[in-house]
Amino acid sequence: RRIAEADSVAVIGLGRFGSALALELMAGGTEVLGIDVDETLVQLMNGRLTQVVRADSTKEEALRQLAVDEFDRVVVAIGDDISASILTCSVLLSMKIPVIWAKVVDDRHGLILEQLGVHHVIYPEKDMGRRVAHLVRGAALDYIEVEPGYALVKSAAPAILIGKRLGDTGLRTEHDVTVAAFKRAGEQWRNADADTVLHAGDTILVVGPTASAESFAQLR
Ligand code: ADP
Repeated sequence: RRIAEADSVAVIGLGRFGSALALELMAGGTEVLGIDVDETLVQLMNGRLTQVVRADSTKEEALRQLAVDEFDRVVVAIGDDISASILTCSVLLSMKIPVIWAKVVDDRHGLILEQLGVHHVIYPEKDMGRRVAHLVRGAALDYIEVEPGYALVKSAAPAILIGKRLGDTGLRTEHDVTVAAFKRAGEQWRNADADTVLHAGDTILVVGPTASAESFAQLR
C-alpha cells in the first residue's frame, strides 16, 4: 500500500531519535513510512507505523521503489553514519522532495547538509544540552527558546505577582515580560490576562526576551 498522501511523512533511520519521532507523528494521526537498513529495527517497529520497510536509503532506486519521491516531507534520522546521512540527503534533494528535515551529530555534519540545501537541519544533542543548561542554572521548570533571543519559561509565580491584578504589577513596563498562562495545583492551565490574580504556589508561563524571561523566572 502506498501512503504518500498530503499528511504523511517518510522517516529514514529508526534509531532512538527516528523511532521516537515516527511514533509521535503516528500518535498525532500522521501516516508514517519508516525505513531502516537494520532488519531488527524494522521488525521492532513493524505494526507500530503505517508501513515499515528495510532498505538502504543511499540507493536512489530503493527510495523510488518505495515511492519516497512522492512524499512532501521526509525526515533523515541517520546520525552516526555521516556518509550515509549525506548520501541520503543528496538523493532526496535530487528527487526534489519539497521539505527535508535531517538530524546531525555535530556542527561539521550540519554545515555539510546546510551547504547541500537541506531545508531543516536539527542538532538534537546541542539543542537539548543548551536547553538543560537553563534548567540546571535557574528556577525555570521548563524552558523553550522560540528563536535566539526570545523564550518561554515555566516557573513558580514570584512574590511580587501574588494577590494583585497582573495588569497592576508593571510586568511589561518594569520586567519586559508577559505572563501568558498560569496553573493552580490540581487545575488545568488557563490563559492569563490583565485581571488575573495569582496565588502563592501557582505555576506561570513567562514569555519575553530570553534575558528578561529568565531573570524574571529567578525571582522568588
Ligand atoms: P540514534 O542516535 O537516533 O539512535 P543512529 O545514528 O544510531 O541514531 O541511528 C540511525 C539509524 O539509521 C540506525 O537504525 C541505522 O540502522 C539507520 N541507517 C544508517 N544508515 C542507513 C541507510 N543507509 N539506510 C537506511 N537506514 C540507515
